[in-house]
Amino acid sequence: MPDTTAPQKFEFQAEIKQLLDIVIHSLYTEKEIFVRELVSNASDALEKLRHTQITEKEIFDDKLDLEINLTTDDKAKTLTIQDFGVGMTRAELVENLGTIAHSGSKAFLKALGEGGAKNSNLIGQFGVGFYSAFMVAKSVKVYTHSWRAGEPGQLWESDGSGSYAIEESEGQRRGCKIVIELKDDCDEFAQEWRVKEILERYSAFVSVPVNLNGKRINTVQALWLRSKNEIKDEEYTEFYKFQAHAYDEPRLRLHFSADAPLAINALLFVPKENTEKLGFARTEAAVSLYCRKVLIDAKPKDLLPEWLRFLKGVVDSEDLPLNISRETMQDKALIEKLNRVITKRFLKFLDEEAKNRPDAYNEFYAEFGVFLKEGAAIDFTHKEQITKLLRFESSLTEKGKTTSLADYVSRMGSEQKEIYYLVGPNRAAIESGPYLEGFKARNLEVLFCYETVDEYVMNHVREFDGKKLTAADHADVKLADLPKPEGALSEDDTKTLIAWLKTALGERVAEVKTSDRLVDSPVLALNADKSMSPHMRRMMKAMNKDGESPVRVNLEINPRHAVFKRLFEMHTAAPAKAQLVAEQLLDNALINAGLLEDANAMVARLNKLLETI
Ligand code: ADP
Ligand code: MG
Repeated sequence: MPDTTAPQKFEFQAEIKQLLDIVIHSLYTEKEIFVRELVSNASDALEKLRHTQITEKEIFDDKLDLEINLTTDDKAKTLTIQDFGVGMTRAELVENLGTIAHSGSKAFLKALGEGGAKNSNLIGQFGVGFYSAFMVAKSVKVYTHSWRAGEPGQLWESDGSGSYAIEESEGQRRGCKIVIELKDDCDEFAQEWRVKEILERYSAFVSVPVNLNGKRINTVQALWLRSKNEIKDEEYTEFYKFQAHAYDEPRLRLHFSADAPLAINALLFVPKENTEKLGFARTEAAVSLYCRKVLIDAKPKDLLPEWLRFLKGVVDSEDLPLNISRETMQDKALIEKLNRVITKRFLKFLDEEAKNRPDAYNEFYAEFGVFLKEGAAIDFTHKEQITKLLRFESSLTEKGKTTSLADYVSRMGSEQKEIYYLVGPNRAAIESGPYLEGFKARNLEVLFCYETVDEYVMNHVREFDGKKLTAADHADVKLADLPKPEGALSEDDTKTLIAWLKTALGERVAEVKTSDRLVDSPVLALNADKSMSPHMRRMMKAMNKDGESPVRVNLEINPRHAVFKRLFEMHTAAPAKAQLVAEQLLDNALINAGLLEDANAMVARLNKLLETI
């Protein structure tokens, strides 16, 4: 048995060493943020205790108040932060303070790795949690006792230079008491006035009492319960940063209250950036649920629909039973009701934003639109409201400008029954393909969809304002006749040529016919499989779900195009060359559709054709 009462030395995990090295040696000017980090940890530990008390009968030192006490000692040059929260066992000390658990610290290291090295300002953007104490500390001592009665008290100690020591320590109260022995040039943090100033800035929203040298600092009322017109923008921003553990500024905010059908006070924020887009993990629900200022659940799963997981903030409802706990959150009906009311209200808010501040809305959409698409596709209850908020570029917008479906519909002629869209990697690709020209020639607007999810979204949204959403490259689309073009191949000759093409191309085509959508291009390919657009087929192929089945398409030809007049003459005069031309035309159409599978065969043929020039 190792002697657990004697100090035992541990090495920090390599990443922590790296982090500490940066933290200690950076010239970071806002050293004061370490106070916010430690108070925030204390506040988390108290929230955890509050919840532990609900489920556990036996709690160590059970009579202690849920509060945070800071004390300064300017003679000894120390700052002490004590909370009566859950505390830590020996194993938890090793796990939580010796290895990297904190997502902010991880993100910080990642950003450094991506070329941010030496940029000490990054600390301010990410927050490095507990370790920020080493910016100002000669040494940090953590005296702690877990809420578990059977565990002994512990002392954790480090000077931040690569190792730490843990020993048993008698007489500890529940929670953590962190004693920071300040570096000589950081002794300002042993001054009461200095710490008071910092606490007033950063810790106004902590829900438990924060006392400095025995005097209560945070007397601010819960921000979401105050009236909108007496709250300053900076207060909202500070609250957002505190509550969401965020380091950016919120992009949008909605502060509202309602009395019916439920009494609700809510304060919701949209962050500046969509971190899922940046490649971070899937965002977790983060809007906290309160009942009369008491936190019920910091991350309730069902309070909002999945697709609103990017929202931060607070929902407070007096209608929740006071004894509600995470366990009794099983009161599904009530949570569902809250969910519906808040979602409706937030969608209404977005609609107003789109009308009143279109530029801000478009910026929001560029960042978070993908969540709305997800909602439109899968949230049946709110589909209609969400669909109104979708935006697309179209054949009538400028590059980079978007239109709503409602505006599209307002521009539709009386003949037009459907809303058309095309999926492609970007504007240039869609505009240069053969699918758009027939629509352009008839003045039909086509929406442009650039994202992989768009086709899925369109298929699930299905219709808007009674108009079907239809892929413009779908084989079923029927377009009105255009005036007969001059100089086209005659109808009889076209028939003959089509019959010949069918034999020449054999198995590779399901059908060959004259096109009602081609104007300038000679050919286009439509997928013979009506259930699958070319784009969809491409995706299936990428996911390797389509196995071996060869592409078989409907080929549409443009008898007005010069190439078919030549081909008509050639198919009797020089059948071998005509065969090559026919195959090449088919491959050209497949390239436009993104369906060409064997480029090598195509190049070999093209080289043969080039020999004949
Ligand atoms: P984060 O707070 O984001 O998890 P930190 O680096 O600030 O990251 O803290 C690391 C971990 O140490 C916390 O997750 C928590 O488990 C533990 N911890 C820190 N301070 C306390 C405290 N005052 N009481 C209990 N546990 C704490
Ligand atoms: Mg923390």
